[in-house]
Amino acid sequence: MKTGAAPIAILSAIHEEQHALLALVDDVERIEIAGRQFHCGQLHGRSVVLVLSGIGKVAAAATATLLVDRFAAGELLFIGVAGGLHADVAVGDVVVARSLLQHDMDASPLFPRYEVPLTGRSHFDADLQRATALAHSARRCVAGTCRVHEGLVVSGDRFVSSAAESAALRKALPDALAVEMEGAAVAQVCSDFGRPFAVLRSISDRADDAAHVDFSRFVADVASVHARAIVDDWMFGRSNR
Ligand code: SAH
Repeated sequence: MKTGAAPIAILSAIHEEQHALLALVDDVERIEIAGRQFHCGQLHGRSVVLVLSGIGKVAAAATATLLVDRFAAGELLFIGVAGGLHADVAVGDVVVARSLLQHDMDASPLFPRYEVPLTGRSHFDADLQRATALAHSARRCVAGTCRVHEGLVVSGDRFVSSAAESAALRKALPDALAVEMEGAAVAQVCSDFGRPFAVLRSISDRADDAAHVDFSRFVADVASVHARAIVDDWMFGRSNR
């Protein structure tokens, strides 16, 4: 048992992404701050805090800040869904972020496109050891049913749901595997506080004209089931392997 260690925070944006994860947690105490329910408990003998951030970068940044400052989270893990951007990334696949960027950050010409002003950076790296372990867990859990990709995930305050918009993102950021709305904000907060983090996303849609239709069905039927199995395996590995 490693219950004395700093808690591992597990964030999701929406309820459908979180509910299967909550079932893994024992001895839950709920604490409400700023309209968010923080579920504190034990998972494979480790202290965890599960919380819904809400959707978008500001909601995610506020939540990440509370997790570090009020809950003394030692590391943050974001589990959710995203739109696939890269040609190789299909609905149902899993993407583990190696780095993240805000695709809607643009203070040019004062700063280069995508650079977060006064940081000198556009890309924020996930913790390599945790991201690698998470990708291993994902491969173990989804074996044969879909692919697991590792690389760049981009975030912005837009649900990307047209072929034209996703094509423009692909052209501007050819390395981007997936697009979502929170990861890069959590990454920036973790960088400020010096906390390691990782982001795992199941691909719910292709960020095109069918994105809205694919979205709800996928999150409930596939993403939450994958998320539960992967987090269970990853946390088991943290305690026992
Ligand atoms: N239909 C949902 C809205 C979800 S917004 C509702 O009514 O609640 C999309 C969420 O999933 C965000 O948290 C985002 O991180 C992720 N996401 C999935 N597909 C996306 C896409 N194509 N573009 C941007 N974010 C996406």
